Amino acid sequence: MESLILSLMLWLKITTTFKIPDAPPTFVIVSIDEISKIAAVKKTSKSDPIISSPLALCTNEKLYFSNELDISILMHRSIVLHELVHYMQNKCHPDSDYEFFEMQAYAVQSHWLKQNGLNVNFVGQGIDTDGIIPFKSKK
Ligand SMILES: [Zn+2]
Repeated sequence: MESLILSLMLWLKITTTFKIPDAPPTFVIVSIDEISKIAAVKKTSKSDPIISSPLALCTNEKLYFSNELDISILMHRSIVLHELVHYMQNKCHPDSDYEFFEMQAYAVQSHWLKQNGLNVNFVGQGIDTDGIIPFKSKK
């Protein structure tokens, strides 16, 4: 998991303008039940908003990954990327709104999946993904 996180951070650094921290985020591996419990508690807290999926969750302090996450599966690796995007978003733009964060994270995730040979569009039709991913300009 550590090396996956590092390689995804490197990909984000090369591809996007997200401010990438020097050190990788702290993460823990927990059960899906544990993720649901943390999500339920944190959702009531405005000062520490969380963004979660059933397999992973991102808070201000750390990332939580389910022990059912199988990083040999491309889609599961993309979930790790999705949560890393939320981690960067929380660090860089804590005031942005949740829906934009989600849309941006899904856009980055589908772009990464496409680069890895899987064409999935989470964002839906009619949304310009290039417009919401903070891509580095091509010179
Ligand atoms: Zn998300």
